[in-house]
Amino acid sequence: MVPRVVFGRGSFDQLDQILAEKRSSPKSPMIFLVDDVFSTNDVFVKRIPKRDRDHIIFINADNEPKTIQVDSLRETIFSRTAEVPEGIIGIGGGTVMDLAKAVAIMMTNPGSSADYQGWDLVKYPAVYHVGIPTISGTGAEVSRTTVLTGPKKKLGINSDYTPFDQVVLDPELTKGVDIKQWFYTGMDCYIHCIESLNGTYLNAFSKSYGEKALDLCREVFNKKVVDEQSQDELMMASWHGGMSIAYSQVGVAHAMSYGLSYLLGTRHGVGNCIVFDHLEEFYPEGVAEFKQMVKKHDISIPKGICANLSDEQFDTMIEVAMGLGPLWENAVGADWRKKVTPEKLRGLYEKM
Ligand code: NAD
Ligand code: ZN
Repeated sequence: MVPRVVFGRGSFDQLDQILAEKRSSPKSPMIFLVDDVFSTNDVFVKRIPKRDRDHIIFINADNEPKTIQVDSLRETIFSRTAEVPEGIIGIGGGTVMDLAKAVAIMMTNPGSSADYQGWDLVKYPAVYHVGIPTISGTGAEVSRTTVLTGPKKKLGINSDYTPFDQVVLDPELTKGVDIKQWFYTGMDCYIHCIESLNGTYLNAFSKSYGEKALDLCREVFNKKVVDEQSQDELMMASWHGGMSIAYSQVGVAHAMSYGLSYLLGTRHGVGNCIVFDHLEEFYPEGVAEFKQMVKKHDISIPKGICANLSDEQFDTMIEVAMGLGPLWENAVGADWRKKVTPEKLRGLYEKM
């Protein structure tokens, strides 16, 4: 679990005080990884509590994090600080928060970040790291993973050292998000809830978080407008949805969306929506409600993205998706291989 969290509009301004407690000397460096959507927002940049030897590195979030990007960020940081920094602070969406988690791990662990994609492979504790979401839905602020695309696979670094030491939840930071991205990333949270609550791994712990998150999502997405209350609620939903899957697992939409992302670079939020739209068979009520929400917010889900793929490309996506055993086991049970065949996945991908 994330041990420390503050929540509230304007709570970003507590960051200086929070970091001060962690600096062993006023001169020790901390690194702020910040979504570059804020790079031209002088008012916001001035609010980042950068001290003497700290660095701000702006990150372009057009593409999802890659292991080579994490490795090269480590080089950049070491070339600037010449010592292991005392803290890594990620300010942005799932992309920047995942990068911050991975970079914090790679400050103290040898080799490439690709070596740690998997479960409990990290050897040494990460440096102190803080997550500050600026868009709500992924639950990356609370999860035990950092999802990376590597040379061979798209897989998280899942470890006890991955979660943030501190999270700052300030819903005010989400106000500039455009409606489409708000919907796609918010739906990630909705889909986490549906996959968790309908999964075989469900337990009282994940159920209590999942139900709360689902209620909040309904509250938010059944309203036509995005107001302050719904910004607050979606940030809370994201946290609870993330807690729910941390104690259970995601399911079919995520497994197949990973396939799209690996082959076509489809981003997580929209990829989940593209897949979920076709999963009536697995999640009938969730998909029906999802379609209503799509309509309400006048969102167009991309179609035909698999139209011109070769057999080989379909096979790659199917292999990536079927490689995620725990997700399928959660979705359909321990004997999932009897029900989920390559032919079945091919049929579903062809519809997308
Ligand atoms: P994102 O971080 O990719 O950002 C999406 C877009 O929104 C970007 O263009 C970004 O610049 C913009 N943006 C962010 N905040 C903004 C703001 N306040 N104003 C205006 N624009 C803003 O989006 P995401 O959906 O949050 O994250 C997706 C990533 O999260 C994927 O890489 C996915 O793999 C990862 N993820 C991780 C976990 C986990 O548990 N670690 C869970 C789910 C998803
Ligand atoms: Zn997700």
